[in-house]
Amino acid sequence: MSIEGSGGRVLAALEERIDPAARVKLAPQEVDGVALLRADLPGPFRAVFTTRHGGCSTSPYASFNLNPRSEDAPIAVAGNRARLASALAHLEGQTSRTGPKLLGETDEAPGIRPDAPAYRLVSPRQEHGLRVMGTAEYVRYSSGEPCDGLTIHPLLDRGLAALLVFADCVPVVLVGEVDMAVAHGGWRGVLEGVVQQAARAMTGPPGLAIIGPSIGPCCFTVGEEVARAFVSRYGADMVRRSSDGEPRVDLWAAVGAALAEVGIRADQVTNPRLCTCCNVDLFYSYRREGLTTGRHGAVVWAVPPGPGLDGPL
Ligand SMILES: [Zn+2]
Repeated sequence: MSIEGSGGRVLAALEERIDPAARVKLAPQEVDGVALLRADLPGPFRAVFTTRHGGCSTSPYASFNLNPRSEDAPIAVAGNRARLASALAHLEGQTSRTGPKLLGETDEAPGIRPDAPAYRLVSPRQEHGLRVMGTAEYVRYSSGEPCDGLTIHPLLDRGLAALLVFADCVPVVLVGEVDMAVAHGGWRGVLEGVVQQAARAMTGPPGLAIIGPSIGPCCFTVGEEVARAFVSRYGADMVRRSSDGEPRVDLWAAVGAALAEVGIRADQVTNPRLCTCCNVDLFYSYRREGLTTGRHGAVVWAVPPGPGLDGPL
């Protein structure tokens, strides 16, 4: 099935395939031609997941590849990232539509705040490790070392949006009362505790989590050694077997177990159960497409406090 070139059809496909239980918290939305899955989060916290549609990369990276470390044309990736940054600013304008009218906002530009904040996308090199940093801290102090999780604090990380990229690995968004985080949950990272590390890196404890599009238990076949490691770390429920006995790891269940370890109740975890490998018309899948595929993104940011709260820092 091809849904290339039609934003409306991308949104309809997302709407149709998302797990009904996740619809309360996740909604497909098109902003500036970019199809997003937008999370409904409390307070200043925001998170979106991108699809592979709405960008300018050509096959096999078509079309919204966000990975600057791929063989894709750098100008295409830069264009996609600029389009995403613009979409975030406009999304913010739209989500503020129901709020009080701001000084200078006119009816001629409904839904777009004239002062809609621009966000700088920060995306470290990911390497299935355990390093989690504050986003501004990463910008100031990193010298390009890998980092598989970023936290966002409304004051400390103002103007920054943390972007991690994926093609089957599990994006995990954590939200607390003070700050939020996004983690890169590949199988190694999930086994070694990157989700728990992201929770520890937050200023306040996380109370809810969103699991992004990623490879499901339907498709994640593994060797016996990896299967044993998941059973040993998270329990027997983490592995299913196909009719021919081949083990499949349920990374979503393992992430759920990791989230429980950091105190997040199961009813506070949202999972759209969108398998990237089954839905390769919507997302990138390393397992399905191999080395030459793109990366979709999970982006988290926080709206800075308004002028009344915006004292000198
Ligand atoms: Zn699948």
